[in-house]
Amino acid sequence: MKFSLASLAAQALRGHKDWPEQWRSAEPKPAYDVIIIGAGGHGLATAYYMAKEHGVTNIAVLEKGWLGGGNTGRNTTIVRSNYLWPASEAIYGHAHALWPGLSQELNYNVMYSPRGVLMLAHNLHDEQTFRRHVYANRLAGIPNEWLTPEEAKDVCPILNIDPGIRYPVRGAAFQSTGGTARHDAVAWGYARGASARGVDIIQNCEVKAITRDASGAVSGVETSKGPISARKIGVVAAGHTSVVMAMAGLRMPLESYPLQALVSEPLKPVMPCVVMSNAVHAYMSQSDKGELVIGAGTDAYISYSQTGGPHIAVSTLEAIVEMFPITSRLKMLRNWGGIVDTTPDRSPILSKTPVPGLFVNCGWGTGGFKATPGSGHVFAHLVATGEPNAIAAPFSLDRFRTGALVNEAAAAAVAH
Ligand SMILES: Cc1cc2nc3c(=O)[nH]c(=O)nc-3n(C[C@H](O)[C@H](O)[C@H](O)COP(=O)(O)OP(=O)(O)OC[C@H]3O[C@@H](n4cnc5c(N)ncnc54)[C@H](O)[C@@H]3O)c2cc1C
Repeated sequence: MKFSLASLAAQALRGHKDWPEQWRSAEPKPAYDVIIIGAGGHGLATAYYMAKEHGVTNIAVLEKGWLGGGNTGRNTTIVRSNYLWPASEAIYGHAHALWPGLSQELNYNVMYSPRGVLMLAHNLHDEQTFRRHVYANRLAGIPNEWLTPEEAKDVCPILNIDPGIRYPVRGAAFQSTGGTARHDAVAWGYARGASARGVDIIQNCEVKAITRDASGAVSGVETSKGPISARKIGVVAAGHTSVVMAMAGLRMPLESYPLQALVSEPLKPVMPCVVMSNAVHAYMSQSDKGELVIGAGTDAYISYSQTGGPHIAVSTLEAIVEMFPITSRLKMLRNWGGIVDTTPDRSPILSKTPVPGLFVNCGWGTGGFKATPGSGHVFAHLVATGEPNAIAAPFSLDRFRTGALVNEAAAAAVAH
């Protein structure tokens, strides 16, 4: 059979009946099997586990800024799993089980340090709530114990347990297996592992639109670097999920808030564990560099400002100085903010959506860093197979229609 150049070009565009099947497709093959929007820890972990456990390597992770520059590189690194409800215990417990082996798995030191997390109770409500957590966690096999103020001070000697202070310590819940990990190392470790398996990570590439084919299924994205086609899209764009999902015509049950943190000048080791105070929303740990890492509360108003109100930092520091008097003359070195997205039931969303081929992972609020390995692991399964596994199933978007909420907000009053 002979072809003129012109007919060859025309046939190349639409395919020729005599050509082998794989050449004849009328539709051009999408550039990628999967696009992940957002190169934070969760997006990169998703790509890593999809490549490693599901053999899907034709993946692009698109990031509007730089790798890990969102909440992943801005958080206060607390890792724990002492949540109340079975669904939460399962997802955070799954992540918690992956942390100890993560440096080995990624061949990258994520500096996981299970130094213990102390959650202070300042009033009767705190005490009742945390005791309930202790009992629920023990039933689920999660280490958590109730400590008296004196026992809490044994764990953290710089803690002020004077009953006359503004936020007196009535006791504390202690998860000895909780702790910290190095946040940017987690992003880089997953990025390197995914990249080694063939995943493309494209920075400075902001997704501007989600495109769909005639059937309504996703067909790709428009970006600041041009269009990119794909069969499936996973949105993992914490803080900006509503903006991205609106590109596919979906309205999300989310609100975005600034959340901020500070670090002090470096000190010799003074703080052997993490101490959290949910009632005042101030908490502190010490990094390996010696800086005291201090977390503040969210702003009261929704915003995308990526910085927090100065008054929030001030009230946090007032509480920190009272709880840890040795900090009163410390200088603060840096202060920054991130944008977290929260759901009405303060639990994440790991879900397929009404748009075929579109999946979403979001809603981790102020506490998603600790979930990074587990979240990526189960979301990879969801995107690869199209169905959630047993751990992810309770976190579908559908729960806001059926009412089967996982209400960590009312029951747990947890912060990070
Ligand atoms: C100050 C602070 C303290 C915190 N402390 C803790 C803690 O101690 N423990 C804990 O467990 N959690 C904590 N968190 C929460 C935790 O950081 C987040 O839940 C978690 O990091 C979310 O990870 P992620 O990968 O989903 O999101 P991110 O790391 O935010 O990644 C999402 C990425 O999507 C990108 N993106 C957004 N829109 C687009 C677009 N249109 N196109 C391309 N890319 C896009 C963003 O640039 C970003 O890099 C804290 C958060 C903050 C801000």
